[in-house]
Amino acid sequence: METAYIGVGSNLGDREENCLGAVDRMVRMPACRVTGRADLFQTEPVGVRDQDWFVNTVVRLDTALDAKTLLKGLLRIETDMGRVRRKRWDARTIDLDILLFGERTIDEPDLRVPHPLLHERRFVLVPLVQLAPELRHPVLGASMRELLARLPEKGQAVTVYKTG
Ligand code: ADP
Ligand code: MG
Repeated sequence: METAYIGVGSNLGDREENCLGAVDRMVRMPACRVTGRADLFQTEPVGVRDQDWFVNTVVRLDTALDAKTLLKGLLRIETDMGRVRRKRWDARTIDLDILLFGERTIDEPDLRVPHPLLHERRFVLVPLVQLAPELRHPVLGASMRELLARLPEKGQAVTVYKTG
């Protein structure tokens, strides 16, 4: 059994409904138990900047699946929800990323955990800090709270969209 943290984001269509719909689908994934969700946040796009703001959250779940099988389930949810992959960092109905999978480090072409950009993204760290401020990054050693404190807010605005 491992505890995983899943990043959830949408900036196309009904962003709130897309995020909450993805959480519902995670609740129904086999061998997984969702144990927490952060608030919904409205966040400034990072990378490709000329697109709509995102709604983001993070889900915590306990799972008996291995990380690859979990990823498969998440990619399946993305496809079922109508995500069309165009270019990298394009607008998307739903994006589900494995941020952390217990203390494990995985470095394969199709799965890198901890997520390689976790510590550089406020839209990931703000919700993560709500769920697990003292959780330590298994490679960097710092807590989520410490990682967030290191990041400048400039260009990475994150505001509460909806609590609860
Ligand atoms: P991004 O999330 O970086 O914007 P995509 O969602 O299009 O990009 O990701 C495409 C691929 O990234 C997935 O098919 C998956 O194989 C790979 N990938 C690598 N590491 C991870 C991870 N930790 N979580 C989710 N996908 C990952
Ligand atoms: Mg992704």
